[in-house]
Amino acid sequence: MNTLHRIDGRLHLEDVALDTLAERFGTPLYVYSRQALETAYQDYSRAFASIPHLICYAVKANSSLAILNLFARLGAGFDIVSGGELARVLAAGGDPGKIVFSGVGKTADEMRAALAAGILCFNVESVSELHRLSRVASDVGKVAPVSFRVNPDVDPKTHPYISTGLKENKFGVPIAEAPALYRLAASLPNLEITGIDCHIGSQLTELLPLTDAADRVLALVDTLAAEGMVLRHIDLGGGIGIRYRDEIPPDLAVYGRELARRFAGRRETLLLEPGRSLVGNAGLLLTRVEYLKPGTDKNFAIVDAAMNDLMRPALYEAYHDIVAVTPRNAPARRYDIVGPVCETGDFLGFARDLAIEEGDFLALLSAGAYGMSMASNYNSRPRAAEILIDKKEIHIIRDRETQSAMMAGERLVC
Ligand SMILES: *Cc1c(COP(=O)(O)O)cnc(C)c1O
Repeated sequence: MNTLHRIDGRLHLEDVALDTLAERFGTPLYVYSRQALETAYQDYSRAFASIPHLICYAVKANSSLAILNLFARLGAGFDIVSGGELARVLAAGGDPGKIVFSGVGKTADEMRAALAAGILCFNVESVSELHRLSRVASDVGKVAPVSFRVNPDVDPKTHPYISTGLKENKFGVPIAEAPALYRLAASLPNLEITGIDCHIGSQLTELLPLTDAADRVLALVDTLAAEGMVLRHIDLGGGIGIRYRDEIPPDLAVYGRELARRFAGRRETLLLEPGRSLVGNAGLLLTRVEYLKPGTDKNFAIVDAAMNDLMRPALYEAYHDIVAVTPRNAPARRYDIVGPVCETGDFLGFARDLAIEEGDFLALLSAGAYGMSMASNYNSRPRAAEILIDKKEIHIIRDRETQSAMMAGERLVC
């Protein structure tokens, strides 16, 4: 389904022309397609239909309430990494019984809030965290459901792009130490062992590391079962990549078949934690060209979106396609697309060939994931508004931040 398309040259998302949207609501403006969000979710549901499963959307990819609510209504669970994300999921009508809580630094307060809400499980990432969770659960008279995040240490030589599943990074516990940790969990008060978890990295474009990790985790689950520790769920994390430029992301149907073969005859529920692949290509960022600044070496197009609105280029040198919303019938020139923020790192794209004039609108594509959720107020810039398109309906899901909202909570000293 192609929700982004051109009619007489004008870029549309579903049935809405993006130039009129930008005029009406101003820029920078995040715009999402409901159909693209739902299709992405349904692609997961279909691919894993033969395995009892729960798709726990990774909230950090895009934590806007309307998007969380949309996934909640489709039946999704949620993967959270903070008390703030817990509050958002609950505010958006998410089912607390479908929440998994990941992250290496859970505070006691966050644990108490999650226990009070009655989440599905804590993905525990260290021995110290396990002891703290046992203490906190005892204090409040609850039993905390525990799943260890294991680090399967998938071979970095064959899969050099993996960033979180290696021995040397901060996430998870080494898979070799997991049996001892499960025994420890079984011996501590107010804990109940319910599952196992791994998440090996992000923007993965190959399946092999994912199925390798699955094999290592499943072998561990069988070892634990032989010791009498029977798990209810196996969480294989997120990380499936999307196409930003020319990447070929793994085929979900193939991943589904690979896991179906491995889960045949098993009793555990499969959990997945996709973020980027559910929202990334369902959203774009509209921006206006403020100034064209020709130079001897390069030309700059200075736009009204900046690194505070979309941090990925500055943070990871990430690539986003940048297209003119209404292309002009003129020869293209090559531009670096930069924002107004006072940092050399404030760029959105280098060496893009565009036929544009001042005042034109550009769309930064594939901006639905790690876009708005990473936005900041740097340079005292209010955060962008967000729109959700549903066919020809336009829903404002977040107002543009006001200057007074940005200053709220601050005080002068007398
Ligand atoms: C970020 C994260 C995800 C989601 O990753 P994507 O690459 O967006 O799919 C899932 N699980 C955990 C633990 C994460 O930290």
